[in-house]
Amino acid sequence: MSTKPTLARNDGHAETTGSAIVVGASLAGLMSALTLARTGVEVTLLERSDDSGRTGAALHVEHDLLNRLTGRTRINRRDAIPAGLQTWHSVHDGLRAAARADSRIRLLPNTIVDAAAQNHNDAWVTTRDGRKFHADIVIGADGHRSTIRRHVAPDKPHSEFAGYVIWIGIAQESELRARSWPDGVDFLSSTNGPLLGYPLPAKDGTLTPGRRQLGFAWYDATRNTLLRKSGAIDGSVVQHSLTADQIPEEIYRELGAEARAEFPSPWRDAILDCVNRRAVIGTPISEYVPNNLANGRIALVGDAAHVPTPMTGSGFSASLHDAEALAKAITAHGVKGPAAKLALATYERTRLTDARRLVQSGQQFSRSLARGVAA
Ligand SMILES: Cc1cc2nc3c(=O)[nH]c(=O)nc-3n(C[C@H](O)[C@H](O)[C@H](O)COP(=O)(O)OP(=O)(O)OC[C@H]3O[C@@H](n4cnc5c(N)ncnc54)[C@H](O)[C@@H]3O)c2cc1C
Repeated sequence: MSTKPTLARNDGHAETTGSAIVVGASLAGLMSALTLARTGVEVTLLERSDDSGRTGAALHVEHDLLNRLTGRTRINRRDAIPAGLQTWHSVHDGLRAAARADSRIRLLPNTIVDAAAQNHNDAWVTTRDGRKFHADIVIGADGHRSTIRRHVAPDKPHSEFAGYVIWIGIAQESELRARSWPDGVDFLSSTNGPLLGYPLPAKDGTLTPGRRQLGFAWYDATRNTLLRKSGAIDGSVVQHSLTADQIPEEIYRELGAEARAEFPSPWRDAILDCVNRRAVIGTPISEYVPNNLANGRIALVGDAAHVPTPMTGSGFSASLHDAEALAKAITAHGVKGPAAKLALATYERTRLTDARRLVQSGQQFSRSLARGVAA
């Protein structure tokens, strides 16, 4: 079956200029869909999973994010994504709502893309259930284990395990017995690796100490045997995260004992609360330094394009810069006919050097963490 995105709809903010398929509707995919739609491109957004979120990490959101992405100056408070440190879920929800409200974006969940291809006239993807979607360009926003990367960088298709896992959790301050609360991000060291602790707004947006959420990201380079045994790492490739129920009881016990011995309150309490609720996720970290970001009518954004260690704190803003650069290149050149290749080559030229530098800037940290503990 062949499904061409319809070009007939018009939401009034620009003429329809062409069509794009974006693979992956997480943060990078949603942001790119919004900036592409702003340039008049009809976007078909294909997402493997259903509506559920996948990570408990926190992200720094820049001011006026939705305004930058959509060009809309009047965004009501209910729809706005507040600036500052926010949970991954709240940012994802806000971007998804903006995409759903944009008539140029069609979001299809439960759609797994297996391959992409192109010729002189257009590009297309095929899905696991046998459908084919055609458009002027294909954008891979399918994360660190990208399928689309194979078509852009066939000589370097995989990101590489960086040598450590990050334990992530979020606790409610109201559930903890701590006496004092942090003002901002805390950076602590432990035998296994550093801990980043960060206060986050409560689910209702409250920033009052004692009623917020406390998130943590605990770097740990001592669990590689567990990661390999569980299949989370295969060779040098990260296969999956460890969900709360995939973390063995013995590891929960060790994390609890180490948190008790190594961290002060309230971070110790936050970790113990998550350990006791069995509400921790283990994410093995990978890295990818790109040699290219585009090949003809197919390009990559976000973690599909470049994977820095989270220690850089910049994966999200790099994805925003990708989305903006992509839209700028398409505004300059268009996406119809031969213009598509020129636009994506311009996008690559704009972003490649910064993307490489960003990943490389975190590699020294990764190497010393992995080496330090292994030694
Ligand atoms: C533990 C951790 C902590 C982090 N902390 C920070 C931080 O503090 N600050 C920061 O800026 N960044 C941080 N990052 C990085 C940041 O989250 C990402 O860079 C950013 O969210 C962009 O991710 P993405 O959308 O490119 O990829 P992902 O979030 O991985 O999304 C990829 C999407 O593609 C979908 N997909 C994959 N394959 C297919 C397929 N074949 N077909 C259809 N859909 C598919 C997936 O289901 C998913 O929805 C962190 C990352 C991790 C892992």
